[in-house]
Amino acid sequence: MADKANIIKGDTVFVRRGRDKGKRGTVKAVFPAAGTATVEGINIVKRHTKPQQEQQQNMGGALPNGGIIEKEAPLPLSTLMYVCEKCKAPTRIRHGRNPDGRAARLCAKCGEPARESAKGA
Ligand SMILES: [Zn+2]
Repeated sequence: MADKANIIKGDTVFVRRGRDKGKRGTVKAVFPAAGTATVEGINIVKRHTKPQQEQQQNMGGALPNGGIIEKEAPLPLSTLMYVCEKCKAPTRIRHGRNPDGRAARLCAKCGEPARESAKGA
């Protein structure tokens, strides 16, 4: 189950399903245990925070501003597809070796090595 990572932080990915289907974004974080990832600007959820003085209704005649936090909700990795920087298209990842002989993620279409993770994750 714990395959080699196909998608890592910083990758450009294509969203295959859901509300933001067809969009592209940059992976902000991957949560391998959950099998999910957050993508910049994708699957935004709004969280309403409680006004600080909820009981004091209509104070000043206006509702408090800034009570909504927007953040990316994690998406299942299965809904994301790696976008090859060379093909500029969503593609599958093939695991192989880059020209230096190190293990690398390669574009299944053109063989272009994908960017590597900072910490070998
Ligand atoms: Zn490619």
